[in-house]
Amino acid sequence: MISDVVIIGSGPAGLTAAIYAVRAGLKVRLFEKGIPGGQAVNTDMVENYPGFPEGISGFELMDRMKRHAESLGIVIENEEVKKIRASGEIKKIKTGKEEIETKSIIICSGSSPKRLGIEGEEKFIGKGISFCATCDAPFFRGQEVAVIGGGDSAVQEAIYLSRFAKKVHLIHRRDRLRATKVLQERAFKQDNIDFIWNTVPVRIVGKDAIEALELKNVKDGTVSYLPVRGVFIFIGLSPNTSFLDPSIKTDDAGFIITDQDMRTSVEGVFAAGDVRSKSLRQISTAVGDGAIAGFSASRYLEER
Ligand code: NAP
Repeated sequence: MISDVVIIGSGPAGLTAAIYAVRAGLKVRLFEKGIPGGQAVNTDMVENYPGFPEGISGFELMDRMKRHAESLGIVIENEEVKKIRASGEIKKIKTGKEEIETKSIIICSGSSPKRLGIEGEEKFIGKGISFCATCDAPFFRGQEVAVIGGGDSAVQEAIYLSRFAKKVHLIHRRDRLRATKVLQERAFKQDNIDFIWNTVPVRIVGKDAIEALELKNVKDGTVSYLPVRGVFIFIGLSPNTSFLDPSIKTDDAGFIITDQDMRTSVEGVFAAGDVRSKSLRQISTAVGDGAIAGFSASRYLEER
């Protein structure tokens, strides 16, 4: 049976798009290759999603969104979308299991943490290198760790890590953080977070476990070694678009370009959330994108 819409990804954007599409009477299939809820599931505390003045754990917020979607009969299918053919009235979606036909697609596949690409990184992923403090902080109780990056993720996760680690060294390539002021102020107040400015990591040193991080000062070229056991990398995001049809336009970094109605360059294909080219990647903006994408897909189908 041909679906009205296939939604790829079950983060805040995908779940919201599904809720809006089902309520508009569309036949929806929703595919998720990993854990339902997307990256937000790994956020210790979400403090800027309206309606939760005391904050809410990312896990709980996403569990609520998931249950909301499921209460409307939406089934999250645990399958990876491998390829899509976006052109034409009837579009094709290839998963690991089947090839299905759909009249429209909403891409909400999100993004993944970027890697540094330095010596030792691959070797120690999962063995001292982490992209998720909420998941791995307890392993570093009482130890010294490094956090790389100066954005919201790096600062928020450094604050979380400071509850477990003896010392958190936040290493940033400039002398000013990119993170929002409220997070910066909280981090500056934390006694066991220290800031290493104008510095980049160049090598992760160790035999069986991480022993040190080789650092380079970008101003004067000085090389130093920081003895840490854990390295948490938060240097931005890459879009999850390996399945993308090349006819769908992206920006230089590979994020999908849409108009304000979440329409991509291909008719009947929409994108929402972190995978979209935009300036503010938040749960609240993903939810907004998802609502618009669900509505736009239903309007697109009505017009046919
Ligand atoms: P981001 O905002 O892109 O920040 C990446 C940071 O890493 C920047 O400080 C950047 O330095 C640095 N960086 C980039 N490439 C690097 C490299 N090769 N070597 C060393 N440093 C490098 O990424 P993010 O912090 O992951 O956040 C992604 C999005 O999620 C943002 O829109 C953010 O606002 C959002 N987010 C929001 C919250 C929240 O609201 N609480 C929490 C997490 C994430 P420069 O500053 O010099 O460019």
